[in-house]
Amino acid sequence: MTSNQDSTQKRLVDSPVLTDKKPGTYLVNEVFYSLQGEGKRAGTPMVFIRFSQCNLRCTVANAGFDCDTEFMSFRQFSIDELVQEAERLNPSKGWMLFTGGEPGLQIDKLLISTMHAQGWKLAVETNGTIKLPTGLDWITVSPKSADHTIRQRTANELKYVRSHGMSIPATSLQAEHYLISPAFQPDGSVRQDDLQWCIDLVKQNPQQWQLNLQYHKFIDIR
Ligand code: SF4
Repeated sequence: MTSNQDSTQKRLVDSPVLTDKKPGTYLVNEVFYSLQGEGKRAGTPMVFIRFSQCNLRCTVANAGFDCDTEFMSFRQFSIDELVQEAERLNPSKGWMLFTGGEPGLQIDKLLISTMHAQGWKLAVETNGTIKLPTGLDWITVSPKSADHTIRQRTANELKYVRSHGMSIPATSLQAEHYLISPAFQPDGSVRQDDLQWCIDLVKQNPQQWQLNLQYHKFIDIR
């Protein structure tokens, strides 16, 4: 096992505990209505359900960037409370995005079937280390750990974060779209050398890869 694999294994072992989660409830960090800020669906209005807890701990050393997402705090929602909150935010419905933390820790068939029955289309953004239930309408896998640790092997879009000096990802995952994002700084900015590096990566690999930017950070919306 390489030192890189060692570090990946350690991060996966450092899994969160969902001991506060009662059956039929979800630990949710926040629910809000905004625009999808990146990927092929950028600009689409979405109700974001940001789940609490993650099974990884991304740092510059192991992922090329430091996680800046607060995912430990939560409020416990029943499925009915989640339905009501989403509909309050956007009564005309449309798209809902499950994110986190790692949403794969909590997404289940009840959530998918209930939201579909209410008329929502369901997107998810996951680190890919947990195989998702079937039925989601749009899957974005953004791996932060080695290819062999990824359990969600298919996606609509596959997105990697790269900083200066990191090579194009060697991936065996199947996706419709392959995206490279420059690493972001804690203040939400992107360093010019990281951006130029990612531009060069996609120009050198034009058959498969495209540049992805987090537009919501540039225009300062959530
Ligand atoms: S997978 Fe995402 S939420 Fe989890 S630690 Fe990494 S960047 Fe943060």
